[in-house]
Amino acid sequence: MPAVACPIPDCDYLTEDLDAVIVAALLTAHGTTHTQGPTAAAKIDRVRRPVISAAGTREEWEYFLSRWSDYLFVCLFALRPADH
Ligand SMILES: [Zn+2]
Repeated sequence: MPAVACPIPDCDYLTEDLDAVIVAALLTAHGTTHTQGPTAAAKIDRVRRPVISAAGTREEWEYFLSRWSDYLFVCLFALRPADH
């Protein structure tokens, strides 16, 4: 099988001239660099989502809000499209 180029525009990834099964596997593995799905999910997983008890004090609530905005910031950053 001839070498196969990545179908994503502006991507110059090119597989080796290998067996079709291997080329398909290479393209599949390379395709994950475009989707960012698993990567973003893994990043978010490492950040603990803040929790608060129903009987929290005002200080606990303010702490929760600041933790929550940090959490949202990390999520938004992780979900940005790749500069690829
Ligand atoms: Zn590509």
